[in-house]
Amino acid sequence: MTKRLFYKNPYIKDFTASITKITEKNNKFHIELNQTAFFPEGGGQPSDQGYIDDVPVSYVYEEDERIFHVLEKLPSKLENVKCIIDWEKRFDHMQQHLGQHILSSAFEKLHDAETVGFHLGSEYVTIDINIPLSKDDIDNVEYYANQIVFNDLVVECIYPSSNELENLPLRKQPKVTENIRIVKIDDFDYSPCCGTHPNRSGEVGLIKIKKYENYKGGMRIVFLCGNRALKDYCLKNNIINEASSILSVKDYEVTNAVKKISNELINIKKENNSLKEQLIEYEAEHMLNNAQEHNNIKIIAHIFEDREFNEVKLLSSKITSAPKSVVVFGIKSDDKAQLILSRSKEVSQINMNEVLKESILLIDGKGGGTPFTAQGGGKEVSKLDEAIKYAYTKIKQVIK
Ligand SMILES: [Zn+2]
Repeated sequence: MTKRLFYKNPYIKDFTASITKITEKNNKFHIELNQTAFFPEGGGQPSDQGYIDDVPVSYVYEEDERIFHVLEKLPSKLENVKCIIDWEKRFDHMQQHLGQHILSSAFEKLHDAETVGFHLGSEYVTIDINIPLSKDDIDNVEYYANQIVFNDLVVECIYPSSNELENLPLRKQPKVTENIRIVKIDDFDYSPCCGTHPNRSGEVGLIKIKKYENYKGGMRIVFLCGNRALKDYCLKNNIINEASSILSVKDYEVTNAVKKISNELINIKKENNSLKEQLIEYEAEHMLNNAQEHNNIKIIAHIFEDREFNEVKLLSSKITSAPKSVVVFGIKSDDKAQLILSRSKEVSQINMNEVLKESILLIDGKGGGTPFTAQGGGKEVSKLDEAIKYAYTKIKQVIK
């Protein structure tokens, strides 16, 4: 059986071993060693990575108490093989893992909240607790957990006998019945676990709860420990410094400044819309005053370049709210042409939907509406003039 070096000393970064067995599966080599410091995935902790004889180890797993190291190619020798652990990754896992023990214990001690789920991902770590808590409660747990870190408590792994086990204040019950390994953080927390942890709580560094949400009647807590928390602090600090420089306020004033700008923007948008509407009313009046009349009906045809559809639509409805008027509007942009045909209710002899259906064919488009107003769009931008002329002529013929 492979000797598990990571249990005796979780700080081993490199070691020498012999290859005892090689199994080939799907063009990959699953290698067994006489001893290993590579931690196989388990207990919520991801597998280690690293090198065996300069060949990258992508994954390490345990099956029937055997540890397999997955390699893309075979090492050049079987004896005295140099093995290196990706220490940055492993130490990160150790920080997150012990941080989780401390945080879960703090939730339990302060609020009787039990940890019912744990996930250690490559970006962040989550625990699920079984009851909902307030922001203040969660803030208190975070503060308390960090005091446990700062107290730099000794972390040990013990293998108690079943008698000794009965007298230990375990935070959760072990999943196995033999060789139960308890991770002991001074007398603060006793928890059965098969993972790797630092020797002192201080090595966890900062424990920072990033966010939390209601989850299955309890809560999901997302948090970061050690270097991950530092990295996140750097990111947040850069963001807040940049925002405070853009807004020309102190960092603690950023939220209020953003709220103020956001409110101002809402008011400016409202004002802008009302001014736009006023302008469109003037535009409608001007168009009506200059319109050509046929049989006492004003027909206004116009093509707008790159103008917003809703704006043109509003203009058309303002014009046709005046009696005896008809609009034939086109909107031209780089990749599409649009048509809006409308009339006031007195001009009942014209069905705008029918006129649109015919004229829109010229721009290879589709559309529809009612006898009062119809609209649509097409791809043949260069034929828009022709479509407008067609609709205009058709309307003139009907009303004369
Ligand atoms: Zn653990």
